[in-house]
Amino acid sequence: MEKAKQAPVYLETYESGELEERIEKLEAILNECKLCPRECGVNRNKGEKGYCKSDNYMMVSNVQPHFGEEDVLVGTHGSGTIFLTNCNLGCVYCQNYDISHLGYGQKMTEEEFALSMLGLQKRECHNVNFVTPTHFTPQIVKALKIAVEKGLHVPLVYNCGGYESKSTIELLDGIVDIYMPDIKYGDVESAKKYSNAPDYFDRCKEAVKEMHRQVGDLKVDENGVAWSGLLIRHLVLPNGLAGSADVLKFIATGISKDSYVNIMLQYRPMYKAYEHKELNRGLRMSEYREAIAIAKEWGLHRGFERI
Ligand code: SF4
Repeated sequence: MEKAKQAPVYLETYESGELEERIEKLEAILNECKLCPRECGVNRNKGEKGYCKSDNYMMVSNVQPHFGEEDVLVGTHGSGTIFLTNCNLGCVYCQNYDISHLGYGQKMTEEEFALSMLGLQKRECHNVNFVTPTHFTPQIVKALKIAVEKGLHVPLVYNCGGYESKSTIELLDGIVDIYMPDIKYGDVESAKKYSNAPDYFDRCKEAVKEMHRQVGDLKVDENGVAWSGLLIRHLVLPNGLAGSADVLKFIATGISKDSYVNIMLQYRPMYKAYEHKELNRGLRMSEYREAIAIAKEWGLHRGFERI
């Protein structure tokens, strides 16, 4: 039975005083940064930068209602996206490489970030959607407290690349309403070669299990707009390079057959993909259909109803 829509979880966490404690714990991690599986150990509070090229100042490239996200996030007024600059992954085919790799964006204080969130709410966006938030999690949660005090009340979406530390995700329990991780690879070699993250699948599996433990399967309201739960994205790569069969098997057997899974077909070579012959073409429809067939065989049934 569909669960009745509830208020965003962070409101109760704020009321109990727990949000303040989480901010302290998250900020302390920046002294020897282990926010993500890279565990660089740099002191970002003193201006040092690790793999993600980020110190303790938030960098933001774009704030806008977005209508290109999944229908369940877009609704009628759009998803309120905030694109964070830089990334903890290193995908050679990145579609946002100017933001993620070249560092396009501007510094933003927590106060300014909070006002951006409130601005999106004022424009009637159905949610505030943090795109690539992992390396700025402490700063985002600090900004959230300011935004709550000024009246924020829409669900939060944590829209990440899936290379997450379970310990950091645990600190987001009761803060994030909708987790939207990629599961990019079920294949160690591809994760190493194309994203510089050989342990990607193992770390991603741990993190996504924790996300699902917190929020469960995706829940939508009477208008079909999501308000809580897990939404997984998987981009099918040419030549089976994403290991889609292993990813889909994990989702069905390790998470839930009721998982909402956006199996994406829009791969095209960008950034440095041309350096890899096997990645230097678009996806064939036959490759996409094969992934859909595997998903159906495993009993998955939500999020890819297009074909
Ligand atoms: S968030 Fe950045 S500095 Fe911290 S561990 Fe990850 S890549 Fe390294």
